[in-house]
Amino acid sequence: MSFNSLGLSEALLKAISKKGYTTPSPIQQKAIPPILQGKDVLASAQTGTGKTAGFTLPLLHILSNNPKAKYRPIRALILTPTRELAAQVYANVREYSAFLNLRSTVIFGGVNQKPQVATIREGIDILVATPGRLIDLENQGLLSLKRIEILVLDEADRMLDMGFLRDIERIMKLMPSKRQNLMFSATFSKDIRKLANGILNHPVQVETTPENSTVDAISQKVYRVAKGLKTNLIIKLISDDNWKQVLVFTRTKHGANKLCKKMVSANITAAAIHGNKSQGARTKALAGFKNGRVRVLVATDIAARGLDIPLLPHVINFELPNISEDYVHRIGRTGRAGASGEAISLVSADETTYLRDIEKLVGMKLPVEIVEGFEPDPNASTEPIKQGQNRSRNSRNNKRNSNPNRNNSKRRPSRNNNTGSNDIRN
Ligand code: AMP
Repeated sequence: MSFNSLGLSEALLKAISKKGYTTPSPIQQKAIPPILQGKDVLASAQTGTGKTAGFTLPLLHILSNNPKAKYRPIRALILTPTRELAAQVYANVREYSAFLNLRSTVIFGGVNQKPQVATIREGIDILVATPGRLIDLENQGLLSLKRIEILVLDEADRMLDMGFLRDIERIMKLMPSKRQNLMFSATFSKDIRKLANGILNHPVQVETTPENSTVDAISQKVYRVAKGLKTNLIIKLISDDNWKQVLVFTRTKHGANKLCKKMVSANITAAAIHGNKSQGARTKALAGFKNGRVRVLVATDIAARGLDIPLLPHVINFELPNISEDYVHRIGRTGRAGASGEAISLVSADETTYLRDIEKLVGMKLPVEIVEGFEPDPNASTEPIKQGQNRSRNSRNNKRNSNPNRNNSKRRPSRNNNTGSNDIRN
Protein backbone atom coordinates (compact mmCIF):
# COMPACT_ATOMS: atom_id res chain seq x y z
CA MET A 1 0.00 0.00 0.00
CA SER A 2 1.19 3.54 -0.74
CA PHE A 3 0.42 6.83 0.99
CA ASN A 4 -1.23 8.03 -2.24
CA SER A 5 -4.02 5.50 -1.90
CA LEU A 6 -5.01 6.76 1.56
CA GLY A 7 -6.59 9.92 0.12
CA LEU A 8 -4.27 12.43 1.77
CA SER A 9 -3.77 15.85 0.16
CA GLU A 10 -0.83 16.69 -2.13
CA ALA A 11 0.68 18.99 0.50
CA LEU A 12 0.71 16.16 3.02
CA LEU A 13 2.14 13.66 0.52
CA LYS A 14 4.93 16.13 -0.17
CA ALA A 15 5.73 16.39 3.57
CA ILE A 16 5.63 12.59 3.89
CA SER A 17 8.03 12.12 1.02
CA LYS A 18 10.31 14.80 2.48
CA LYS A 19 10.46 12.70 5.66
CA GLY A 20 11.49 9.76 3.50
CA TYR A 21 8.51 7.52 4.27
CA THR A 22 7.46 5.31 1.38
CA THR A 23 4.91 2.94 2.90
CA PRO A 24 2.36 3.64 5.62
CA SER A 25 2.94 1.56 8.76
CA PRO A 26 0.18 -0.91 9.79
CA ILE A 27 -1.32 1.51 12.31
CA GLN A 28 -1.33 4.26 9.68
CA GLN A 29 -3.00 2.01 7.11
CA LYS A 30 -5.74 1.11 9.56
CA ALA A 31 -6.29 4.39 11.40
CA ILE A 32 -6.03 7.02 8.63
CA PRO A 33 -9.10 5.98 6.53
CA PRO A 34 -11.69 6.02 9.36
CA ILE A 35 -10.24 9.28 10.76
CA LEU A 36 -10.55 10.90 7.32
CA GLN A 37 -14.19 9.77 7.29
CA GLY A 38 -14.72 11.79 10.47
CA LYS A 39 -15.18 8.78 12.72
CA ASP A 40 -14.07 8.40 16.32
CA VAL A 41 -11.19 5.94 16.60
CA LEU A 42 -9.85 3.83 19.45
CA ALA A 43 -6.42 2.55 18.45
CA SER A 44 -3.97 0.24 20.17
CA ALA A 45 -0.47 1.39 19.31
CA GLN A 46 2.81 1.90 21.09
CA THR A 47 5.58 4.38 20.51
CA GLY A 48 7.62 3.23 17.55
CA THR A 49 4.70 2.10 15.40
CA GLY A 50 4.25 5.40 13.57
CA LYS A 51 1.14 6.25 15.58
CA THR A 52 1.89 9.98 15.66
CA ALA A 53 1.65 10.27 11.88
CA GLY A 54 -1.36 7.93 12.13
CA PHE A 55 -3.41 10.63 13.80
CA THR A 56 -1.57 13.79 12.75
CA LEU A 57 -1.79 13.29 8.97
CA PRO A 58 -5.58 12.83 8.77
CA LEU A 59 -6.10 15.56 11.39
CA LEU A 60 -4.14 18.04 9.25
CA HIS A 61 -6.00 16.89 6.14
CA ILE A 62 -9.39 17.54 7.76
CA LEU A 63 -8.45 20.96 9.14
CA SER A 64 -6.82 22.21 5.93
CA ASN A 65 -9.79 21.07 3.83
CA ASN A 66 -12.03 23.31 5.84
CA PRO A 67 -10.01 26.46 6.63
CA LYS A 68 -11.24 29.15 8.99
CA ALA A 69 -10.66 32.37 7.10
CA LYS A 70 -10.62 35.29 9.53
CA TYR A 71 -9.20 34.31 12.90
CA ARG A 72 -7.83 31.08 14.23
CA PRO A 73 -9.64 29.49 17.14
CA ILE A 74 -7.95 26.32 18.44
CA ARG A 75 -9.59 23.59 16.37
CA ALA A 76 -7.59 20.51 17.33
CA LEU A 77 -6.19 19.49 20.70
CA ILE A 78 -3.60 16.74 21.12
CA LEU A 79 -3.18 15.74 24.76
CA THR A 80 -0.07 13.82 25.84
CA PRO A 81 1.02 12.58 29.27
CA THR A 82 4.59 13.94 29.30
CA ARG A 83 6.42 17.06 28.24
CA GLU A 84 8.86 15.07 26.13
CA LEU A 85 6.08 13.38 24.21
CA ALA A 86 4.31 16.72 23.74
CA ALA A 87 7.49 18.22 22.28
CA GLN A 88 7.98 15.25 19.97
CA VAL A 89 4.38 15.21 18.75
CA TYR A 90 4.59 18.95 18.11
CA ALA A 91 7.80 18.48 16.11
CA ASN A 92 5.91 15.95 13.97
CA VAL A 93 2.90 18.25 13.56
CA ARG A 94 5.21 21.00 12.33
CA GLU A 95 6.97 18.75 9.84
CA TYR A 96 3.78 17.27 8.41
CA SER A 97 2.13 20.68 8.12
CA ALA A 98 5.14 22.30 6.44
CA PHE A 99 3.20 22.88 3.19
CA LEU A 100 -0.15 23.77 4.76
CA ASN A 101 -1.56 27.03 5.97
CA LEU A 102 -2.05 25.79 9.52
CA ARG A 103 -0.46 27.04 12.71
CA SER A 104 0.34 24.99 15.77
CA THR A 105 2.09 25.23 19.10
CA VAL A 106 2.92 23.18 22.17
CA ILE A 107 2.40 23.95 25.85
CA PHE A 108 3.68 22.12 28.92
CA GLY A 109 4.68 22.94 32.47
CA GLY A 110 8.08 23.50 34.00
CA VAL A 111 8.84 26.40 31.67
CA ASN A 112 7.74 30.03 31.51
CA GLN A 113 4.17 30.33 30.25
CA LYS A 114 4.65 33.77 28.61
CA PRO A 115 6.01 32.68 25.22
CA GLN A 116 3.36 29.94 25.06
CA VAL A 117 0.59 32.45 25.74
CA ALA A 118 1.99 34.89 23.18
CA THR A 119 1.90 32.23 20.43
CA ILE A 120 -1.65 31.21 21.34
CA ARG A 121 -2.71 34.88 21.17
CA GLU A 122 -1.46 35.13 17.61
CA GLY A 123 -3.94 32.41 16.66
CA ILE A 124 -3.25 28.70 16.24
CA ASP A 125 -5.21 25.84 14.74
CA ILE A 126 -3.59 22.93 16.56
CA LEU A 127 -2.52 22.79 20.19
CA VAL A 128 -0.34 20.01 21.61
CA ALA A 129 -0.50 20.05 25.40
CA THR A 130 0.04 18.23 28.66
CA PRO A 131 -3.04 18.37 30.89
CA GLY A 132 -1.70 20.47 33.80
CA ARG A 133 -0.49 23.50 31.82
CA LEU A 134 -3.58 23.34 29.61
CA ILE A 135 -5.86 23.60 32.63
CA ASP A 136 -3.67 26.35 34.17
CA LEU A 137 -3.89 28.53 31.06
CA GLU A 138 -7.61 27.88 30.58
CA ASN A 139 -8.23 28.81 34.22
CA GLN A 140 -6.41 32.09 33.64
CA GLY A 141 -8.63 32.76 30.62
CA LEU A 142 -5.62 32.63 28.30
CA LEU A 143 -7.02 30.03 25.94
CA SER A 144 -10.37 28.62 24.96
CA LEU A 145 -11.27 25.09 23.90
CA LYS A 146 -14.80 26.04 22.86
CA ARG A 147 -14.07 25.61 19.15
CA ILE A 148 -12.33 22.25 19.30
CA GLU A 149 -13.31 20.00 16.39
CA ILE A 150 -10.84 17.15 16.91
CA LEU A 151 -9.46 15.78 20.17
CA VAL A 152 -6.56 13.32 20.34
CA LEU A 153 -5.64 11.50 23.55
CA ASP A 154 -2.17 10.11 22.95
CA GLU A 155 -0.80 7.36 25.21
CA ALA A 156 -4.07 7.32 27.12
CA ASP A 157 -2.94 4.41 29.30
CA ARG A 158 0.06 6.44 30.48
CA MET A 159 -2.22 9.33 31.29
CA LEU A 160 -4.26 7.11 33.57
CA ASP A 161 -1.09 5.56 35.04
CA MET A 162 0.16 9.03 35.85
CA GLY A 163 -3.04 10.09 37.57
CA PHE A 164 -4.46 12.41 34.93
CA LEU A 165 -8.02 10.98 34.94
CA ARG A 166 -9.57 13.91 36.76
CA ASP A 167 -7.72 16.43 34.60
CA ILE A 168 -8.95 14.68 31.46
CA GLU A 169 -12.52 14.79 32.76
CA ARG A 170 -12.17 18.50 33.46
CA ILE A 171 -10.78 19.17 29.99
CA MET A 172 -13.68 17.28 28.36
CA LYS A 173 -16.11 19.75 29.95
CA LEU A 174 -14.30 22.68 28.34
CA MET A 175 -14.92 21.46 24.79
CA PRO A 176 -18.03 21.33 22.65
CA SER A 177 -19.70 17.91 22.85
CA LYS A 178 -19.88 17.63 19.05
CA ARG A 179 -16.34 16.80 18.00
CA GLN A 180 -14.24 13.97 16.61
CA ASN A 181 -12.33 11.94 19.21
CA LEU A 182 -9.23 9.83 18.67
CA MET A 183 -7.73 7.78 21.45
CA PHE A 184 -4.39 5.96 21.24
CA SER A 185 -3.23 3.56 23.92
CA ALA A 186 -0.62 0.78 24.15
CA THR A 187 -2.87 -1.31 26.37
CA PHE A 188 -6.63 -1.78 26.68
CA SER A 189 -7.25 -2.21 30.39
CA LYS A 190 -10.68 -2.01 32.02
CA ASP A 191 -9.92 1.60 32.98
CA ILE A 192 -9.01 2.51 29.40
CA ARG A 193 -12.23 0.99 28.10
CA LYS A 194 -14.19 2.93 30.70
CA LEU A 195 -12.49 6.16 29.69
CA ALA A 196 -13.08 5.37 26.01
CA ASN A 197 -16.77 4.70 26.65
CA GLY A 198 -17.13 8.09 28.28
CA ILE A 199 -15.37 10.01 25.51
CA LEU A 200 -15.68 8.19 22.19
CA ASN A 201 -18.80 8.00 20.10
CA HIS A 202 -19.27 4.64 18.32
CA PRO A 203 -15.52 4.35 17.74
CA VAL A 204 -13.86 2.30 15.04
CA GLN A 205 -11.41 0.01 16.82
CA VAL A 206 -7.99 -0.31 15.28
CA GLU A 207 -5.50 -2.87 16.51
CA THR A 208 -1.98 -3.70 15.42
CA THR A 209 0.26 -6.57 16.40
CA PRO A 210 0.30 -7.04 20.17
CA GLU A 211 3.26 -5.93 22.16
CA ASN A 212 4.74 -9.37 22.80
CA SER A 213 5.77 -9.74 19.16
CA THR A 214 8.31 -6.98 19.85
CA VAL A 215 9.79 -9.14 22.56
CA ASP A 216 10.38 -12.00 20.13
CA ALA A 217 12.40 -9.76 17.82
CA ILE A 218 14.80 -8.55 20.51
CA SER A 219 17.86 -10.43 21.67
CA GLN A 220 17.58 -10.64 25.45
CA LYS A 221 20.24 -11.64 27.92
CA VAL A 222 20.63 -11.75 31.70
CA TYR A 223 23.91 -11.30 33.55
CA ARG A 224 23.73 -12.71 37.06
CA VAL A 225 26.01 -10.52 39.15
CA ALA A 226 26.67 -9.53 42.76
CA LYS A 227 24.77 -6.35 43.58
CA GLY A 228 27.91 -4.44 44.53
CA LEU A 229 29.61 -5.29 41.22
CA LYS A 230 26.85 -4.04 38.91
CA THR A 231 28.36 -0.61 38.30
CA ASN A 232 31.75 -2.02 37.35
CA LEU A 233 30.14 -4.65 35.14
CA ILE A 234 28.02 -2.16 33.21
CA ILE A 235 31.07 0.06 32.67
CA LYS A 236 33.03 -2.96 31.44
CA LEU A 237 30.26 -4.06 29.03
CA ILE A 238 29.90 -0.58 27.54
CA SER A 239 33.66 0.06 27.32
CA ASP A 240 34.79 -3.36 26.05
CA ASP A 241 32.49 -3.33 23.04
CA ASN A 242 32.55 0.45 22.67
CA TRP A 243 28.75 0.66 22.73
CA LYS A 244 27.11 3.89 21.72
CA GLN A 245 23.52 5.03 22.29
CA VAL A 246 22.92 2.90 25.35
CA LEU A 247 19.71 3.46 27.27
CA VAL A 248 20.08 2.34 30.89
CA PHE A 249 17.15 1.93 33.24
CA THR A 250 17.36 2.32 37.00
CA ARG A 251 14.46 2.01 39.39
CA THR A 252 15.02 5.29 41.18
CA LYS A 253 16.05 8.86 40.43
CA HIS A 254 18.79 8.70 43.03
CA GLY A 255 20.08 5.50 41.41
CA ALA A 256 20.06 7.17 38.00
CA ASN A 257 22.12 10.14 39.25
CA LYS A 258 24.59 7.92 41.07
CA LEU A 259 25.16 5.63 38.10
CA CYS A 260 25.49 8.59 35.77
CA LYS A 261 28.27 10.07 37.92
CA LYS A 262 30.12 6.75 37.98
CA MET A 263 29.94 6.52 34.18
CA VAL A 264 31.32 10.02 33.78
CA SER A 265 34.21 9.16 36.17
CA ALA A 266 34.93 6.18 33.92
CA ASN A 267 35.15 8.52 30.91
CA ILE A 268 31.82 7.45 29.41
CA THR A 269 29.69 10.43 28.45
CA ALA A 270 26.39 10.00 30.23
CA ALA A 271 23.31 11.97 31.23
CA ALA A 272 20.42 11.19 33.55
CA ILE A 273 16.80 11.89 32.72
CA HIS A 274 14.10 11.79 35.38
CA GLY A 275 11.33 13.82 36.94
CA ASN A 276 13.61 15.87 39.21
CA LYS A 277 15.54 17.23 36.24
CA SER A 278 14.45 20.56 34.82
CA GLN A 279 12.82 20.62 31.41
CA GLY A 280 15.93 22.25 29.96
CA ALA A 281 18.20 19.55 31.38
CA ARG A 282 15.97 16.78 30.04
CA THR A 283 15.77 18.29 26.56
CA LYS A 284 19.53 18.81 26.51
CA ALA A 285 20.22 15.24 27.66
CA LEU A 286 17.87 13.79 25.05
CA ALA A 287 19.29 15.94 22.25
CA GLY A 288 22.86 14.96 23.22
CA PHE A 289 21.88 11.31 23.26
CA LYS A 290 20.23 11.55 19.85
CA ASN A 291 23.13 13.31 18.18
CA GLY A 292 25.71 10.93 19.67
CA ARG A 293 27.47 13.33 22.04
CA VAL A 294 26.06 11.45 25.02
CA ARG A 295 26.78 7.71 24.87
CA VAL A 296 24.65 6.63 27.79
CA LEU A 297 21.26 7.91 28.85
CA VAL A 298 20.29 6.74 32.33
CA ALA A 299 16.54 6.94 32.82
CA THR A 300 13.75 5.93 35.15
CA ASP A 301 10.65 4.25 33.74
CA ILE A 302 8.25 7.15 33.76
CA ALA A 303 10.79 9.63 32.42
CA ALA A 304 11.58 7.34 29.49
CA ARG A 305 8.01 6.90 28.38
CA GLY A 306 7.16 8.42 25.07
CA LEU A 307 10.77 9.27 24.19
CA ASP A 308 11.20 9.05 20.47
CA ILE A 309 14.63 7.49 19.99
CA PRO A 310 14.42 5.38 16.87
CA LEU A 311 16.71 2.42 16.21
CA LEU A 312 18.21 2.11 19.65
CA PRO A 313 20.89 -0.60 19.63
CA HIS A 314 21.26 -1.29 23.37
CA VAL A 315 18.96 -1.22 26.36
CA ILE A 316 20.36 -2.22 29.74
CA ASN A 317 18.30 -2.85 32.84
CA PHE A 318 20.70 -1.86 35.61
CA GLU A 319 17.93 -3.04 37.90
CA LEU A 320 14.88 -5.03 36.95
CA PRO A 321 11.56 -3.25 37.32
CA ASN A 322 9.25 -4.70 39.96
CA ILE A 323 6.34 -4.43 37.54
CA SER A 324 6.88 -6.97 34.77
CA GLU A 325 5.04 -4.93 32.13
CA ASP A 326 7.63 -2.16 32.59
CA TYR A 327 10.27 -4.65 31.40
CA VAL A 328 8.38 -5.08 28.13
CA HIS A 329 8.06 -1.30 27.73
CA ARG A 330 11.77 -0.82 28.46
CA ILE A 331 13.08 -3.39 26.02
CA GLY A 332 10.54 -2.29 23.40
CA ARG A 333 12.85 0.70 22.87
CA THR A 334 15.40 -1.42 21.11
CA GLY A 335 15.16 -3.17 17.76
CA ARG A 336 12.54 -0.72 16.53
CA ALA A 337 11.55 -0.32 12.89
CA GLY A 338 13.09 -3.64 11.96
CA ALA A 339 16.58 -2.87 13.27
CA SER A 340 18.27 -5.40 15.51
CA GLY A 341 18.67 -4.62 19.16
CA GLU A 342 19.93 -6.10 22.35
CA ALA A 343 18.35 -5.93 25.79
CA ILE A 344 20.55 -6.80 28.74
CA SER A 345 19.54 -7.15 32.37
CA LEU A 346 21.94 -7.11 35.32
CA VAL A 347 20.27 -9.28 37.93
CA SER A 348 21.38 -9.67 41.54
CA ALA A 349 20.06 -12.30 43.97
CA ASP A 350 17.40 -10.05 45.44
CA GLU A 351 15.84 -9.58 41.98
CA THR A 352 15.25 -13.30 41.42
CA THR A 353 11.48 -13.04 41.98
CA TYR A 354 11.20 -10.13 39.52
CA LEU A 355 13.11 -12.14 36.93
CA ARG A 356 10.74 -15.11 37.35
CA ASP A 357 7.69 -12.82 36.97
CA ILE A 358 9.16 -11.26 33.82
CA GLU A 359 9.92 -14.66 32.32
CA LYS A 360 6.32 -15.67 32.98
CA LEU A 361 5.04 -12.55 31.22
CA VAL A 362 7.25 -12.83 28.13
CA GLY A 363 6.67 -16.59 28.01
CA MET A 364 10.33 -17.62 27.83
CA LYS A 365 13.35 -18.28 30.00
CA LEU A 366 15.96 -15.59 29.42
CA PRO A 367 19.49 -16.83 28.65
CA VAL A 368 21.85 -16.27 31.58
CA GLU A 369 25.56 -15.44 31.50
CA ILE A 370 28.14 -14.81 34.20
CA VAL A 371 31.21 -12.68 33.52
CA GLU A 372 34.44 -13.82 35.15
CA GLY A 373 35.30 -11.56 38.04
CA PHE A 374 31.66 -10.39 38.33
CA GLU A 375 30.12 -13.54 39.74
CA PRO A 376 26.90 -13.40 41.78
CA ASP A 377 27.25 -13.58 45.54
CA PRO A 378 26.27 -17.13 46.55
CA ASN A 379 25.44 -15.99 50.09
CA ALA A 380 23.20 -13.07 49.11
CA SER A 381 19.53 -13.25 50.06
CA THR A 382 16.99 -13.83 47.29
CA GLU A 383 14.41 -11.84 49.26
CA PRO A 384 13.05 -9.04 47.02
CA ILE A 385 14.46 -5.56 47.56
CA LYS A 386 12.42 -3.55 50.04
CA GLN A 387 12.98 -0.17 48.49
CA GLY A 388 10.09 1.08 46.35
CA GLN A 389 8.47 -2.31 46.48
CA ASN A 390 4.97 -1.17 47.07
CA ARG A 391 4.43 0.65 43.84
CA SER A 392 1.57 -0.97 42.01
CA ARG A 393 -0.47 -0.01 38.98
CA ASN A 394 -3.32 0.95 41.30
CA SER A 395 -1.26 3.07 43.60
CA ARG A 396 0.06 4.93 40.58
CA ASN A 397 -3.44 5.45 39.25
CA ASN A 398 -4.75 6.88 42.45
CA LYS A 399 -1.96 9.16 43.60
CA ARG A 400 -2.53 12.36 41.74
CA ASN A 401 0.24 14.16 43.58
CA SER A 402 2.82 11.49 43.04
CA ASN A 403 3.41 12.58 39.51
CA PRO A 404 6.24 15.08 39.08
CA ASN A 405 5.60 15.22 35.35
CA ARG A 406 2.43 17.14 36.06
CA ASN A 407 2.72 20.72 35.16
CA ASN A 408 2.28 22.37 38.49
CA SER A 409 5.76 23.41 39.37
CA LYS A 410 4.79 24.08 43.00
CA ARG A 411 3.72 20.50 43.57
CA ARG A 412 6.39 18.43 45.24
CA PRO A 413 6.76 14.78 44.27
CA SER A 414 5.64 12.41 47.00
CA ARG A 415 8.09 10.19 48.76
CA ASN A 416 7.70 6.56 49.38
CA ASN A 417 7.36 6.79 53.15
CA ASN A 418 6.50 3.16 53.71
CA THR A 419 9.95 2.09 52.76
CA GLY A 420 11.83 4.74 54.65
CA SER A 421 13.66 5.47 51.43
CA ASN A 422 14.43 8.90 50.10
CA ASP A 423 14.36 7.70 46.53
CA ILE A 424 11.69 9.31 44.47
CA ARG A 425 10.37 7.58 41.44
CA ASN A 426 10.12 8.90 37.91
P1 AMP B 1 5.92 7.07 16.51
O1 AMP B 1 5.37 5.69 16.79
O2 AMP B 1 4.87 8.00 16.04
O3 AMP B 1 6.69 7.58 17.69
O4 AMP B 1 6.95 6.93 15.28
C1 AMP B 1 8.11 6.17 15.39
C2 AMP B 1 9.15 6.53 14.34
O5 AMP B 1 8.75 6.04 13.05
C3 AMP B 1 9.36 8.02 14.17
O6 AMP B 1 10.74 8.26 14.14
C4 AMP B 1 8.70 8.35 12.85
O7 AMP B 1 9.35 9.45 12.23
C5 AMP B 1 8.86 7.07 12.06
N1 AMP B 1 7.77 6.80 11.06
C6 AMP B 1 6.47 7.11 11.17
N2 AMP B 1 5.78 6.69 10.08
C7 AMP B 1 6.67 6.09 9.27
C8 AMP B 1 6.56 5.45 7.98
N3 AMP B 1 5.41 5.31 7.35
N4 AMP B 1 7.70 4.95 7.44
C9 AMP B 1 8.89 5.05 8.10
N5 AMP B 1 9.06 5.65 9.30
C10 AMP B 1 7.96 6.16 9.89
